[in-house]
Amino acid sequence: MPDDAKNDPNGLRALADGVRQSNRRAIARAITLVESHRDEDLDAASDLLGFLGSDTRKPALRLGISGVPGVGKSTFLEAFGSYLLRRGLRVAVLAIDPSSTVSGGSVLGDKTRMATLASSDQAFVRPTPGAGASGGISPRTREAMAVLEAANFDVVLVETIGVGQSETAIHDLVDYLLLLVLTGAGDELQGIKRGVLELANGIAVTKADRDNRERAESAARELRSALKILHAARPAGPATVFTCSALENLGIAEIWSELEQGHRERVESGALEQLRRDQGVLWYERRVQEEAIRRWLQDPRFQRAFEAQRQAVADGRTTPFAAARATFGSSEPER
Ligand code: GDP
Repeated sequence: MPDDAKNDPNGLRALADGVRQSNRRAIARAITLVESHRDEDLDAASDLLGFLGSDTRKPALRLGISGVPGVGKSTFLEAFGSYLLRRGLRVAVLAIDPSSTVSGGSVLGDKTRMATLASSDQAFVRPTPGAGASGGISPRTREAMAVLEAANFDVVLVETIGVGQSETAIHDLVDYLLLLVLTGAGDELQGIKRGVLELANGIAVTKADRDNRERAESAARELRSALKILHAARPAGPATVFTCSALENLGIAEIWSELEQGHRERVESGALEQLRRDQGVLWYERRVQEEAIRRWLQDPRFQRAFEAQRQAVADGRTTPFAAARATFGSSEPER
């Protein structure tokens, strides 16, 4: 957006109005602003989020979709999102940039991913910036979701690649985490980390079609009994296990039906509001850490101490441990 608009509260109010009216250009500009790491944009981003506010509007369903490259995430998002559109719902997707290295470099490339969603005026698909390292979560994913929610999307989907940390990060951002898994030979739980299974609210065995259908059903049965034992003590009970085929549109309606019902119940009971507050506290803590580091790194005295100690470590004059302590000891930020 033009710089004058960013510095002008009226410009930001107009941008917030545009978002609320679901103007596509306004949504795109607002997300770009909240994702910006430029110092001069931070105040405007904060003001914009304030203007967007959280009023009494119906909360969107925030759904995380995670799985290894090749499991069928983008095919599922296209099928699931199209199903929601047919039901008259408005859908936004924060998608992984397929050119990122961890995505496995989708052979099909950007244009053909989620073609129906990308071309519908009731849907909005946005690649997550810098999604390479983080598996699809950026330090501004929550703010991007807030913009999409203010734009009155009914469902906000966040796609992440299972790279360990990303499941924890996405779990702390969404209302429901759906893990997509493939059938494999032998032990079906192999390759899925126990901690990840614990975070998921639902697990869908993908590509349950053609020759693979029977195998997928038996994998799902195996998963169900394993989860019952693993998660006997979990308050929410074990994750629901589904089978689905994005290519043949099987299992999609069942997944939505469970999600929709769970969402309605959580909105009515107040559990959703509590969950989002708890998530807000976690996000606040992480953003404070980010801000603390940013401020330290910008402090010239810190920079001098840092360079001096780094050189001392490189020259073998000190240990990394002593140097780290000395770096802060000699550059306390002003209080
Ligand atoms: P992603 O890397 O997780 O986004 O996976 P993709 O959605 O790109 O899918 C990887 C491959 O699996 C592609 O060749 C898809 O055509 C195929 N695939 C995805 N979903 C299904 C499905 O439901 N059934 C079958 N048979 N193949 C699928």
